Parts: sequence; C-alpha cells; structure tokens
Amino acid sequence: MLLYLCEQMIGHTDTLTQADKAIGDGDHGIGMARGFEAVRLKLEGGSFAALDELFKAAGMALITSVGGASGIIFGTWFRGGTKNLAGAATLDSPALSAWLVDGLAAVKERGKTKPGDKTMVDALEPAAAAAEQAAAAPLDEALAAATEAARLGMEATKDMVASMGRAKTLGERSLGHPDPGAVSTYLILRSLWEYTEKSGE
Ligand SMILES: [Mg+2]
Repeated sequence: MLLYLCEQMIGHTDTLTQADKAIGDGDHGIGMARGFEAVRLKLEGGSFAALDELFKAAGMALITSVGGASGIIFGTWFRGGTKNLAGAATLDSPALSAWLVDGLAAVKERGKTKPGDKTMVDALEPAAAAAEQAAAAPLDEALAAATEAARLGMEATKDMVASMGRAKTLGERSLGHPDPGAVSTYLILRSLWEYTEKSGE
C-alpha cells in the first residue's frame, strides 16, 4: 500500500507544483516527489515487523528528504501517527483512525497550526474525524470517508487567507487557491483508498 502511495505521489508532481506556484514558490511538487522516492527506497531496502516501524521509517525518510517545512510536517504526520500502533500487524480501520488522529495531534503541536490557517491541517483534521467515526467499518469504507473529508477540507482552503508559510505574504491573493499541503494530504489519502479498491482489501 505504501509503495503504491509512493508511486502515486511521484506521479502527482506537476499537480502539486502548479498548486504551489499559485500561492508559493512552486517547490512542493519536487519536494514531495523527492520525499516519496526516498520512502520507496527505504521500504524496498528494509524489513518491518509492525506498522509503527513501517510508518516511522517512512516519516523519517520524508523529514530527511523533502526539505523545508513540508518535510517536517508530513514526516511528523507519519511518525507521530504511530503513537498507538506499537506492534500492530495490520492496517485496519481502528489503526487508520489512530494514525490520523495521533498524526494530526503531532502536526498541530509541531507546526503550531490550527484549523482555518490554510494549511494541510484543514484537510487532515476532517479526515481524522471521519476515520474515527468509521473505525468500526471495513478499511475501504473508512478510507473512502477520510478521503472525501480531506477533499472537502482541501476545497475549503480556497476560501481561506494564508496565515502561515510563504503564502502568508500574499494575504488576500491566496484566496481562490487551495493550500498545496492540503492538496497533498487529500492525494495521500486518495492513494491509500485507491489501493484498497484495486487490491480488494
Ligand atoms: Mg513551496
């Protein structure tokens, strides 16, 4: 599933570059592609006994390769989300919920961001809430719900004025464009959901 995610995120480089060019410096696509290529290499070259080891390794690869705030934030999601996954052998709906809820808490702590700041938190927070609500449903349903919540959250960032990062200097001119980190958050969840659809899990 994570290898599929890497392949998809590398494939979305242009989408993320365009999203970042609209309100930032345009480096988000290349940064995320570099990050998920590093994750791919890390996963292919290692063996992992449990989910927490797997997601921690992925998070470290993002932190050390994406660069800038994005690497820290997305890496913190992957790493911080493992708080309650020690020894977990399967990504089921409760594990997905734990990963998103704990990952969100770690990102908010690390980034000092709150909803409405026009950041990836605006996509991750509704996704975590949706996954928590769907924790008793099958994984593909929980991922579908989290993905749709992330999409709506990402769309809502178009109506927000950036108060963090480089887009902050644009002020009102950031209106009408989604936050690139929120776009990435949506695409990450959509890729995980797509994988469950393709693999029939
Ligand atoms: Mg940028």
